[in-house]
Amino acid sequence: MTVRVRVAPSPTGHLHVGTARAALFNWLYARHHGGTFILRIDDTDRERSTAAYEEDILDSLRWLGLDWDEGVGVGGPHGDYRQSSRYERYQQAAADLVASGAAYYDNRSPDELEALRRRAEEEHLHPGHYIRRPEKAVAEGAVRLSVPPDQPVVFEDLVRGKISFEARDIDDFVILRSDGTPTYHLASTVDDVDYDITHVARGEDLLPSTPKHILITRALGAGEPGYAHLPLLFGTDGKKLSKRHGAESLSTYRDEGYLPDAVFNYLSLLGWSIDGDRTIFTRDEAIAAFDLIDVSRNPAVFDPDKLSWMNGEYIRATDPEEFRAMARPHVEAAIGRSLDEEEWSRFEEVSDLVQERTRFLPEAGEQVVFLFEDFEYDQAAWDKVMAKDGVPGILKTAQERLAAVDDWAAADIEAVLRGMLEEMGLGAAKGLQPLRVAVTGTSVSPPLFESLAALGKEKTLARLEQAQRELAG
Ligand code: GLU
Repeated sequence: MTVRVRVAPSPTGHLHVGTARAALFNWLYARHHGGTFILRIDDTDRERSTAAYEEDILDSLRWLGLDWDEGVGVGGPHGDYRQSSRYERYQQAAADLVASGAAYYDNRSPDELEALRRRAEEEHLHPGHYIRRPEKAVAEGAVRLSVPPDQPVVFEDLVRGKISFEARDIDDFVILRSDGTPTYHLASTVDDVDYDITHVARGEDLLPSTPKHILITRALGAGEPGYAHLPLLFGTDGKKLSKRHGAESLSTYRDEGYLPDAVFNYLSLLGWSIDGDRTIFTRDEAIAAFDLIDVSRNPAVFDPDKLSWMNGEYIRATDPEEFRAMARPHVEAAIGRSLDEEEWSRFEEVSDLVQERTRFLPEAGEQVVFLFEDFEYDQAAWDKVMAKDGVPGILKTAQERLAAVDDWAAADIEAVLRGMLEEMGLGAAKGLQPLRVAVTGTSVSPPLFESLAALGKEKTLARLEQAQRELAG
């Protein structure tokens, strides 16, 4: 059997972290087994689906490196792979199910159906208990699947083991609305059957739909795929990650300068582990090790701080040349203009130090604004450090000592300033923090001596002077 798996996002929002994780697990499974990974677009919600969201989904999957073998954007033997292009097929499938007796038309009014629902509720039965095939057949209306009342729907979930649903708790559900549009249940199942999907791996939130899909699959006379329900994602606050939460969209991470390899690595750990507590591994290692049966059934926690940490690990492991190229747009964004080559060489001088201290690329920009004319004092840092006794004296002495340094290199600057601290009887924190705030405007910059070296002598002295004026003013 050749593995054929799919991810089926709805273009009603950006690609959500949960859908990206589902895509990633399907992709890993396909690549591990030399199978086929398919991208289907579930756009039956015509009102909320947009071309822009579809584009975002495709872009985000490409950015993550999850290439697909068939589907929207790349084509394949099944045509378009958008559900909106297959209404005739769903209508035909519904008609076939009516013809075989597995489904029926229902033209009862909403009021009639509501009365049946209420009656079931009063008797503490499943709301759909009385929604069954009426005695008198009609030839129009919505199409409902006729659910055999006494056979439980049982299946073996690759992640969750044996799962059983009582059929009497499943009402005769609508598969085709009276306006001819398919429900998710029909469209999804017909596609999975037509595309010969061998395994359906999707979020556990869709578990209640699965018995319905199994019933449709059987009624269509097709074989059931394997199912794997992936654990739900929670935030660190213990609340379920919300699908349409802006900050949970993949494109946000891309736009914020995260590295796709780091995001890939992090997402792969949401419900799976490679071995023991190893957290950093390559795509190829993940492909070699991945199997759906190893996915955990416990909820997974999506922790943005861990993702930032991991991104930092990936940034540190990046080739320095490549890091500089990746950082440049972020440095330019931080100062709001492009840099000429002389200015860029100032960044290059500290880029190794910045690389060590960057968790995600915009931080690279924030750390080096001081290197350029456009820097400003960070008010909080200024208030905290500069109001202390003795600060004007430290600034003045440092300015005098540094003015005498001939070879403007980090080691010489350090020697001079350490000598000054010793003579003045000052600890490093007390003596150097004011210099850092005066020269870099902040209390977070690359190490001080290297920062001064990269900024240059003239500018360093001018800023020490400027800070003294601010204090005196
Ligand atoms: N379209 C569904 C979603 O975006 C997924 C459907 C499925 O995987 O069956 O959640």
